Amino acid sequence: MVSVSSLLLALLPATSVLACAMHRATTTQDSVERRDSSTGQCGAANGNLSCNGTTVNRCCSQAGWCGDSTDHCGTGCQAAFGYCSPPAPAPTIPAISTRAKLGSVPYGSEIYACTKANTIALTFDDGPYLYTAALLDLLKTKGVKATFFVTGSNLDKGDIDSTAAWTSVIQRAYNEGHQIASHTWTHADLSAVDEATRKYEMVRNEQAFLKIIGKYPTYMRPPYISCNAACQATMGTLGYHVILWDLDTDDYNQDAAGLIQNSKNNVKTAYDQRWDAYMSIAHDIHYQTVYNLTSYQIDAGRAAGYTHTTLGECLQDPAANWYRTQL
Ligand SMILES: [Zn+2]
Repeated sequence: MVSVSSLLLALLPATSVLACAMHRATTTQDSVERRDSSTGQCGAANGNLSCNGTTVNRCCSQAGWCGDSTDHCGTGCQAAFGYCSPPAPAPTIPAISTRAKLGSVPYGSEIYACTKANTIALTFDDGPYLYTAALLDLLKTKGVKATFFVTGSNLDKGDIDSTAAWTSVIQRAYNEGHQIASHTWTHADLSAVDEATRKYEMVRNEQAFLKIIGKYPTYMRPPYISCNAACQATMGTLGYHVILWDLDTDDYNQDAAGLIQNSKNNVKTAYDQRWDAYMSIAHDIHYQTVYNLTSYQIDAGRAAGYTHTTLGECLQDPAANWYRTQL
C-alpha cells in the first residue's frame, strides 16, 4: 500500500524533499511498528527499523539506508521510517550547576542488579508510545509499580513536551507511583556521539521532564547498552545512575503472537533459578509486551514469591534521591 506521505514525497520537487520534516505527523505511520536503527539500515525490508534514533531526523532511503545526503533524500524517503531535515543545529546546553551525589547507589558506572532481596524491578524502555496507557491500566489493575525509561523524541512520535498525548501519559505514570527515568532525547548511541551531543541528549530530556513533572530523573539507561568510559564520565558529571539489567525478556525480538512465548520462557527460566532479585528489561513500544507478556510476568513473579518495586526501591535508594529540580 502506498502511504499518503509517500505520494506527497513523489509529487514534491527534489529541492523540497529536504524540508520534509513536515511529513512526520502522518496517521499512516502510527500503524507501523518501528524500532530505531542501530545498523544504518532501515525500512520494511530491514525489520521496520527507523532512522529517527540514529541521529536527528534522518531519511530512510528507497534502498533502505539512513542518511541525509542527496543520494538518500533525492529519490524520496520511505516516510514511515524517517525523514530528511537540514543539518541539526549545534546543541545548546544551559549552564548546569554542580549536582550533589546523594545516597549510596553509585553514579557514573553501570549497575546491573537490584540489591533488595525478593524484589523484581520491571522496567520499560523507549516509550511513551501507542501502548503505554494500556500498560498503565494493567499495572494499576495488578497493583504493581514499575520504572519507565523515557525517550524524548524517537520513532517520529513528536517531542514529549509538546505532544499532549505523551505529556499526559508521562504525568499519569508519575502520579500513579511509577518511577520516571531517562533514555536520552533521541535514543542516541551515547558512545558514538561527541561530548556536547551526549550532554544535549541528557539535558534536553531534563528540560522536558521539568516541564512535564516538575523534576528530572537521576536514573538513566543508555540506548543500545552503549555507554563507554567517556559516556560514563559524562553521566557521573551529570549525576546519573547508569542502569542496565540482569533479566532480558528479549521482548523486542519476540513481538508476534507466535513468538512472545519465548519471552515468557526467558522469564520463567530466570524465576525458576530463584535469584535474590531481578532487574528486568522490556519495552512499552511493543504490543505483545503490553498485552501479553507483562501480565504473565507479574503473575509468575508473584507465584515465585517476589514483590514488584520501582528501580529506586530495589536499589534501596530513598525516593528523595530519584529526581532533581534544578538544572
Ligand atoms: Zn531503547
